[in-house]
Amino acid sequence: MLAAYITHLDCTRHNMGPHHPECPERLGAIQDHLLIKGLLDYMVPYEAPLATDEQLGRAHTALYVKEMKALAPQDGLLYVDPDTIMCPDTLRAALRAAGAAVEATDLVISGQVATAFCAVRPPGHHAERAAAMGFCFFNNVAVGIRHALDVHKVQRVALIDFDVHHGNGSEDIFHDDDRVLMCSIFEKGLYPYSGDAPRGPNMVNVGLPSRSGSDAFREAVTQTWLPALEAFRPQMIYISAGFDAHREDDMGNLGLVEADYEWVTARVMEVAQRHCLGRVVSCLEGGYELSALGRSAAAHVKALIGAD
Ligand SMILES: [Zn+2]
Repeated sequence: MLAAYITHLDCTRHNMGPHHPECPERLGAIQDHLLIKGLLDYMVPYEAPLATDEQLGRAHTALYVKEMKALAPQDGLLYVDPDTIMCPDTLRAALRAAGAAVEATDLVISGQVATAFCAVRPPGHHAERAAAMGFCFFNNVAVGIRHALDVHKVQRVALIDFDVHHGNGSEDIFHDDDRVLMCSIFEKGLYPYSGDAPRGPNMVNVGLPSRSGSDAFREAVTQTWLPALEAFRPQMIYISAGFDAHREDDMGNLGLVEADYEWVTARVMEVAQRHCLGRVVSCLEGGYELSALGRSAAAHVKALIGAD
């Protein structure tokens, strides 16, 4: 069955300055590699819609959504923090990125596609209920998950996060929501310096030391994530797909390679086939070395669509 490829040109217009690693070229690098590998042949393209206030308000406070909209500059750059910067096109990109997760949810639940990959930016997993940080404004994957839970009445959703950084924003939003199981592996000691003490019983947090490598990563998935997922029996699975744990990416030092992304995605797909008709929505998070990002995203998507 086909997968959705959800993106929008607006997501390339968000620009935080000439030397910022979270750059517009990231999306082109991914699309180029999906094309080269022939993976787009298995995917149906969709344009990401703009998320509504109601949709954003399921993961963020209404006041925060209002504040973000009021902050958006007419010209120049506005620094939310030293690394998280709004340009005049940022708000539209952020609304598309969150809207993509909602669209992906609708497409997968309606059965029009089996899985969906949202190639969007800004990323989302550091955005808390009421705080933008770490290149993130709205928590895209969380907006999608709450849409599945609150609108489609899905009862149990698993969130997988393999970005090299801990998804503090997703933990902030879901730590007191037992409809969600969040499984996270991240590098210890990196930004945002959270995750060591899980904030709820529904958080499976594994902090790995620097230079852990592929074997330690795979063992952590096998020993912690997979048993927790089997016990939880999710009705839908979301992935915060960050590729900055790749060994060519300067953001972290876990030392993963693209085969690890294909492997972990295949394991998640096995769980999804057993428990939830293969329903998986993946949203791009980090990944900053353009070639490694493109290759890793292609390896991930290959497993997502079950291509040989
Ligand atoms: Zn990251």
